[in-house]
Amino acid sequence: MSNATLANVDRALLQQHLSERCEPAYRAGQVWEWAARGATGYEQMTNLPDALRRRLEQEVPFSTLELVEEARSSDGTVKALFRTHDGHPVEAVLMRYRDGRRSVCVSSQSGCPLTCTFCATGQMRFGRNLTSSEILDQALHLRRIEPVDHAVFMGMGEPMVNLDSVLEAARALPDVGITWRRTTISTVGWLPGLRRFVDEVEEPIRLAFSLHAPTDELRSELMPVNDRYPLDEVLAECMRYFALRRRKVFVEYVMLRGVNDRVEQARALADLLDPKVFKVNLIPYNPTGIYDGSTSKAIAAFKAALDRARLPSTVRLTRGRDIQAACGQLAARPGRS
Ligand code: SAH
Repeated sequence: MSNATLANVDRALLQQHLSERCEPAYRAGQVWEWAARGATGYEQMTNLPDALRRRLEQEVPFSTLELVEEARSSDGTVKALFRTHDGHPVEAVLMRYRDGRRSVCVSSQSGCPLTCTFCATGQMRFGRNLTSSEILDQALHLRRIEPVDHAVFMGMGEPMVNLDSVLEAARALPDVGITWRRTTISTVGWLPGLRRFVDEVEEPIRLAFSLHAPTDELRSELMPVNDRYPLDEVLAECMRYFALRRRKVFVEYVMLRGVNDRVEQARALADLLDPKVFKVNLIPYNPTGIYDGSTSKAIAAFKAALDRARLPSTVRLTRGRDIQAACGQLAARPGRS
């Protein structure tokens, strides 16, 4: 078992505790295996000596996150709001689909340092990067509700800014029941992290790119990060990912009425993206303030233009809007359940 798979409780603390008490090295692995399979506490870990279980209970918190609130949407989506030990809010979402898929959406940071104009997370205060244990503990919490099989790093924060912890968490997900092929990391196009992701990651983890506009000019208006890392350079990295992995890159495109949803813009998007490399996810805008969402007619016309250009696309199903759990709505405000 790799080191990464020891994370659930605070790893450093667990290791320290075990070695101070001269426990065999495999104990940490046993704790992890239980947690990954949905255990709710040390008392269930029946292959650990009684006395050790009791000591762990007192000295090593079972999760690095404290659950503050859980909200349930009418569509079955669950949103959990946690607090880190130093008081930072973190949100994670469990999405349930009719076909049986269970997908966890986890946060990589508390808040987000970027300021995409349409996203509520960007409007809240940035806290800090999360540790790999704090990221995994979100998935483990949702795993305790029911078995899960997909993960997206699409919660609060920019995963490529916190790549080491994100990868450490992602690498441990198969133990939780989520294979790498069913794990997707989404980015605004943060080049330093993205380059490393392409160069260094050998696991078949999927890549999603939040594009949202077919030109630099419009993209910079919507996403100030574009001034720093222009489109052609980011797209070149996505192409390199495809060349090395032979896996399609998902492009996320949030549909904003009168801003980026015209048919000419769909054509421009199709000119920009190689249909062998990219697959577009059109995301209905979840209200966060300044924009209006595209009408369903406009979304259909946009999609039809992409279809004509043979650029594959789907319209993303909106989940959890009534509890502020949908894309772009995570801002550590209470949900209504
Ligand atoms: N920072 C990363 C990870 C977050 S993913 C990234 O941006 O890719 C969250 C996705 O939801 C992104 O594609 C984001 O652009 C999209 N999103 C943000 N605000 C939204 C909103 N109000 N409605 C719909 N989608 C939104």
